Amino acid sequence: MELTTEQDAILRTVREFVDKDVLPNVAKYDRADEFPQPLYEQMVEMGLFGMTIPEEHGGLGLDLMTYALVVAELSRGWISLSGIMNTHFMAAWMIQNFGTAEQKRSLLPLMATAELRAAYSMTEPGAGSDVQSIRTTAKRTEDDGWQIDGQKMWSTNGLRSSMIMLLAVTDASANPRHKGMTAFIVRKEPNVQHQPGLTIPPNLKKLGYKGVETTELVFDGYRVPADAVLGGEAGIGQGFKYFMAAVELGRVNVAARAVGVARCAFEQAIRYAQERQTFGRKIAQHQAIQMKLAQMGTQIRAAELLTFDAARRKASGERADLEAGMAKLYATEAAEFCAIEAMRIHGGYGYSQEYMVERLYRDAPLLILGEGTNEIQQLLIARRLLELHAV
Ligand SMILES: Cc1cc2nc3c(=O)[nH]c(=O)nc-3n(C[C@H](O)[C@H](O)[C@H](O)COP(=O)(O)OP(=O)(O)OC[C@H]3O[C@@H](n4cnc5c(N)ncnc54)[C@H](O)[C@@H]3O)c2cc1C
Repeated sequence: MELTTEQDAILRTVREFVDKDVLPNVAKYDRADEFPQPLYEQMVEMGLFGMTIPEEHGGLGLDLMTYALVVAELSRGWISLSGIMNTHFMAAWMIQNFGTAEQKRSLLPLMATAELRAAYSMTEPGAGSDVQSIRTTAKRTEDDGWQIDGQKMWSTNGLRSSMIMLLAVTDASANPRHKGMTAFIVRKEPNVQHQPGLTIPPNLKKLGYKGVETTELVFDGYRVPADAVLGGEAGIGQGFKYFMAAVELGRVNVAARAVGVARCAFEQAIRYAQERQTFGRKIAQHQAIQMKLAQMGTQIRAAELLTFDAARRKASGERADLEAGMAKLYATEAAEFCAIEAMRIHGGYGYSQEYMVERLYRDAPLLILGEGTNEIQQLLIARRLLELHAV
């Protein structure tokens, strides 16, 4: 893939950061399930939180393709770092594309420097794949603002964020239901578990994807002003549409994260295969190991091509839902495959916390579930294929 000078420069900076600062320290943060504050600060300094925010609003103004390349590189180090950025990126993209001029003017510059850090919340305890069955409500108050009530689930960056892009029901009688949903820009105090009308229970304990918090959000009469509606009055009833557009973007992002995890698994495996000896030769000389390496390398190459093709299409404004879905499906399954194969190549040592592949094995499955499970992904891909090939 040919990179522009700018893409090449930013990628080199991120690669150096990953090799020098992330990979040597990731085990420590992962094991303690600790937010990687120094790494986060370096990411802010590199301008990564404003990467796709236009220059006029204080960002770097880079396109989705560059974003995907950077996310893959960061995820080679640790997917939790891209998790810290991803909800922020989706919320910024929604404001940029659907926000009022005032929302863009007042919020994007603060988001570009991460002074305002965003979470993104649509999932609820009873509604994950089936987003249309969310129950959180937003009702108009006497002062023209809104009151939010309901419970959200699995909110990445739920605690440390100072803003939540939130999907809520504003008209329960709407038919179809999604026409009664609205996106809200909910401001809150970062790092505070209890504030009037909003409780954030302790961090959910997870298999992997450590260091980045995932929380419930319990709204009980939380008040937001009238201008919290994304897109202003015109945005009322448009929330589902806005969120689904962002999810499509999120799929490219998850695919890029999967490419990063798969690359890391491959790097660990091919190095180990040339160090470890059994039966008097390096295990890389056994055909069984070579076949694993060949499968991993081939799947990674295919995942890269699908992912960066989807990113390029989306960046150039072409319709890319099918390509983004295929990239997400393929790349995340490839990441899961590479993580387990890397562990097998490490033999018993792969099961030990001393080696990185143990973490990759715990991190990779998240990608299969996030931004629409791969089961749902296949339904969407099939629906679009049937549209394209209708007889
Ligand atoms: C670590 C983590 C972080 C997350 N971060 C966020 C976040 O920041 N913001 C946010 O909004 N959400 C977030 N999520 C939520 C995530 O997007 C959902 O978990 C996911 O969409 C699946 O929803 P669910 O868990 O309710 O599963 P369900 O929808 O209950 O699905 C259960 C199973 O049924 C299958 N299934 C469901 N419907 C169908 C169907 N029609 N046909 C075939 N199979 C079907 C699914 O594929 C799955 O295998 C996060 C989740 C995790 C684990």
